Amino acid sequence: MTSARVGFVSLGCPKALVDSERIITQLRAEGYEIAPDYEGADLVVVNTCGFIDDAVQESLDAIGEALQENGKVIVTGCLGAKASGSGNNLIKELHPSVLAVTGPHATAEVMQAVHHHLPRPHDPFTDLVPEQGIRLTPRHYAYLKISEGCNHRCSFCIIPSMRGDLVSRPIGEVMREAESLVKSGVRELLVISQDTSAYGVDLQYRTDFVAGRPVRTRMTELCKELGQLGVWVRLHYVYPYPHVDDVIPLMAEGKILPYLDVPFQHAHPAVLKRMKRPASGERNLERIQSWRSIAPEITIRSTFIVGFPGETEAEFESLLEFLGQAELDRVGCFAYSPVAGATANDLPNPVPEAVRLERQERLMQTQAAISQRRLRRWVGKRVRVLVDDIDQSQGILIGRTMADAPEIDGIVRIAPDPNSRHPVPARIGDWATVDIVDSDDHDCDAIFIRETSV
Ligand code: SF4
Repeated sequence: MTSARVGFVSLGCPKALVDSERIITQLRAEGYEIAPDYEGADLVVVNTCGFIDDAVQESLDAIGEALQENGKVIVTGCLGAKASGSGNNLIKELHPSVLAVTGPHATAEVMQAVHHHLPRPHDPFTDLVPEQGIRLTPRHYAYLKISEGCNHRCSFCIIPSMRGDLVSRPIGEVMREAESLVKSGVRELLVISQDTSAYGVDLQYRTDFVAGRPVRTRMTELCKELGQLGVWVRLHYVYPYPHVDDVIPLMAEGKILPYLDVPFQHAHPAVLKRMKRPASGERNLERIQSWRSIAPEITIRSTFIVGFPGETEAEFESLLEFLGQAELDRVGCFAYSPVAGATANDLPNPVPEAVRLERQERLMQTQAAISQRRLRRWVGKRVRVLVDDIDQSQGILIGRTMADAPEIDGIVRIAPDPNSRHPVPARIGDWATVDIVDSDDHDCDAIFIRETSV
């Protein structure tokens, strides 16, 4: 019997990617095949994103294309939870021929729809999956999703209305997944959620069991446990609450990577208040300084929104001043763009688009010099990198130091040692020791020294 084949289109952020991995894992566990193209598929699942208007359009286009090319389409993800102007489901209104629509993190509902429209293959044991499931990232790094949803209500964001309040996964379950990923060859775990510092709040930090030991479901304990796995552990989406200070010593001890992705979004208290940002009252500059005094190597990445409704020139300038003092390593900046359904749209004094774009440009210019300076501190150092790719045409490896998250930060271009006649022996996913010899705005250049086993 030929098995049933499902096509899969995965759009959106790393959290959506994890949803896709779960659905694909379940499909494979039940004996479905994943088709590489529309023609070869009996049905197509489209995992959508609904965060900003561009992402909505991309998702709607993908659904339209899947309908045209294949005809049998199930839609899941953030956009699936979105209502149209008339209060109906947006997707069903725009694409009435889709077979089913679900919101995000809805593996069970998606599977139910798949079972209904493409009955499950007769023998599920012909296609068993590896223990760690199917991942869409390369074999050597993986996203570890520790919770879903968010208890905050930032005025520019509609994620809570789509994904609901915070639901943390018990620490035992997260650690089982982490251990199984490491066993399968993963060398870097990227911890993700909407708000990593809030991990466990909804469970009142309930005690769960990790390898038979009682451990509380809380960020500090999670970092301690992950720090024992012997792989790189990188924290994303951490808000600057006081208890974050507790994980900095683990970074100083080399247990987890000295890296924090902290989406500050702004620095002026009045703007943060209008944004309804978590931890908006914290003294962020002092906090950053104290983190650096404990873990001097720490890399801090952040994102900012400029031109938020009501942002005055003085408020914007105070943000530039903050950047000058905070000396962050990596910064992303968005010019504010209204998201349908966000409460910020009702705020007075919207900033004209030309001013928003001009402020974005000014911020990026200010930050470019800072990032460049921060990156130069790596030049002259001998460091360990993780090899992500091999550029055959140039004869170099592409790697990352502990300061760079995949996809969003910089890379290290690694050339062979000019004094050695041996080709660089490393493969994708290997550790390597390199000497950093130069840096530009985002990336570093290095000379390969040796392969490193751990
Ligand atoms: S913290 Fe704010 S921006 Fe982040 S998901 Fe929650 S509401 Fe949205």
